Amino acid sequence: MRIPLVAGNWKMNGSLSSTQELLAGIKQGIGAIGAGVECAVFPPFVYLAEVERLLGGTVIGWGAQNVSEQQPGAFTGEVATAMLLDFHCTYVIVGHSERRTLYGETDAIVARKFAAARKAGLTPVLCIGELLEERERGVTEEVVARQLDAVLELEGIEGIEEAVIAYEPVWAIGTGKTATPEQAQEVHAFIRSRLARHDAAIAAATRILYGGSVKGSNAAELFAMPDLDGGLVGGASLNAQEFLTIAKGA
Ligand code: PEP
Repeated sequence: MRIPLVAGNWKMNGSLSSTQELLAGIKQGIGAIGAGVECAVFPPFVYLAEVERLLGGTVIGWGAQNVSEQQPGAFTGEVATAMLLDFHCTYVIVGHSERRTLYGETDAIVARKFAAARKAGLTPVLCIGELLEERERGVTEEVVARQLDAVLELEGIEGIEEAVIAYEPVWAIGTGKTATPEQAQEVHAFIRSRLARHDAAIAAATRILYGGSVKGSNAAELFAMPDLDGGLVGGASLNAQEFLTIAKGA
């Protein structure tokens, strides 16, 4: 039984006061969502302390958007896994397409970040997905398999057992273009089958989120697909009502 997860990736947005306002709105409505869906937010690093203060003792989880693969030391501008644990993060996103395309994170770097997170006891949310040009060339499965295999080779299928996967077609992120439920389902089923080549039970238990312009108006039809176990939500997660409507859709 996979409990859907609705995860809000705030990206580099917000302020201290908007963080307080957004979390107040989410906390106010979360009671109506029920125990069948898990919700978590992913603020910028600097707001983690405030998020912990405001969400501690609630059913809403939190995590970071990125982490270093290094142990604490001379790595200016980086944040170590131990620092995320100081703020009681449960999750950390690794390999978001913006990290891959804008900051040059390769499959190997992402795999090392995944390993560091897992070693620290954090749950990695591994983002994978193809560019528009790759979809048009018909290599979506090849790309997703390569990104997944980089982690499987380093961590084994046991590593995935403790993780969440987010399929995020890059052409749908922040563009307003959403994959159709059928397009998303096709890739989610492929990801699960790829995991099942290693271990059928782990494949069946792994949560695979969809990300890419999920909104209150399209969440329910996306999440109705059998291999979609919730969503990684960017823009719409900055509005409490939208985020809650998406969670209801799960
Ligand atoms: C994301 O940032 O992971 C994302 C899916 O963004 P958006 O929902 O805005 O497309």
